[in-house]
Amino acid sequence: MSSQKVMLEVNNLTKIFGSNPKRALPLLEEKMSKEDILQKTGLTVGVHDASFTVYEGEIFVIMGLSGSGKSTLVRMLNRLIEPNAGSVSMHGKDIIKMTHDELVQFRLHNMSMVFQSFALMPHLTVLENTAFGLELAKVPKEERKKRSLQALEQVGLSGWENAYPKQLSGGMQQRVGLARGLAVDPEIMLMDEAFSALDPLIRTEMQDELLMLQEKYRRTIIFISHDLNEALRIGDRIGIMEGGKLIQVGTPEDVLQNPANDYVRAFFKGVNPANVLSAKDIASGSHPTIIISKSGNLRTSHEILSSSERDYAFVLDPQHKLQGVVSADSIQNKLKEKNPDNTLRDAFLPHIHTVNEDDTMQEILPIVAQGSCPVPVVDSDNRFKGVVSKTRFLDTLHRNGDSFENTEAHSM
Ligand code: ADP
Ligand code: MG
Repeated sequence: MSSQKVMLEVNNLTKIFGSNPKRALPLLEEKMSKEDILQKTGLTVGVHDASFTVYEGEIFVIMGLSGSGKSTLVRMLNRLIEPNAGSVSMHGKDIIKMTHDELVQFRLHNMSMVFQSFALMPHLTVLENTAFGLELAKVPKEERKKRSLQALEQVGLSGWENAYPKQLSGGMQQRVGLARGLAVDPEIMLMDEAFSALDPLIRTEMQDELLMLQEKYRRTIIFISHDLNEALRIGDRIGIMEGGKLIQVGTPEDVLQNPANDYVRAFFKGVNPANVLSAKDIASGSHPTIIISKSGNLRTSHEILSSSERDYAFVLDPQHKLQGVVSADSIQNKLKEKNPDNTLRDAFLPHIHTVNEDDTMQEILPIVAQGSCPVPVVDSDNRFKGVVSKTRFLDTLHRNGDSFENTEAHSM
């Protein structure tokens, strides 16, 4: 992530609802809970001390139970809710300090909220519905039309511009709603539970639609969800909120592997790690490797293997591209032949399958299960990244909780 460009930098954002909200600050310092503060002062902690960074081109999901502060947090970013403290900076400018006029422009071009409800207006055509957000933004008519047509094309609705909503299927109507948000095309799109009201099938369809668009256009999106599956499906990174606090930020893999507390752990209970973790997350680097140009003869390889007390070694070229796999036996057999022309390549095991580092555990399972040796993990340039053994695979599943057994264990 560090190589990516920072799009938004949020520091110490706090919002307390009620009169004279500053009264709550010393209590928060004393780590008094949200419930106790409400009891004692009548003030509601919306968000306390939230800091995070959003990178260009990522989908950053903010997740948490209802009432945990997600909407408050996201509305402070464009000041639909004024924070009591903190800063939000984009392109070196603090949004919290903007004048009213600057803020109006900012909401039009830099950071827009996609309507929570995708409800379309029945008396307007698909094109007019799509252009509606732009009309609010006072974009000139010709430009509105051009951008709306482009957005409709992105969601696969070219040719439907002049239809009315009732002529469209439910899924198509939702896509018009999405097109309306896309047409505005802000630098950062805020989507607050945008898909939550949809029935499950259409919801998954919309998630896929968003992911497909993301492949192509790489927008920066802050997406709010109370649904873990949705978060895992679409989030590049996830921020988890509990009682007004942002308690953990990380990739789905990070959070699943190292939950910050029991609340996070509880959230992830029932998640099948096999769908979240990929080969690179579980690959082990503890098997010996042999660089073919240096120690590439049979006898030195034999030494390397016996001193490592492993059965297999992975043979790489100087660029660390995987060449083959050898075993103690395969080397032994070649040495026994006493043929001076034999090289390490002659000891390569046949039929070795590799897996890509980004394949999920679910995807690599058949290969790991059938393989006679630990399965080498490579990147798209065939560079060696480690190995996944059967033991490693099973350990990961068990480490990630009992819940797994009663959920999808049967599909394993
Ligand atoms: P979420 O979006 O995660 O469901 P919200 O951000 O809407 O949570 O709410 C966070 C907390 O702030 C809740 O306890 C909620 O009751 C409270 N809250 C939100 N908006 C207001 C408001 N305008 N006035 C008073 N309390 C509010
Ligand atoms: Mg909300």
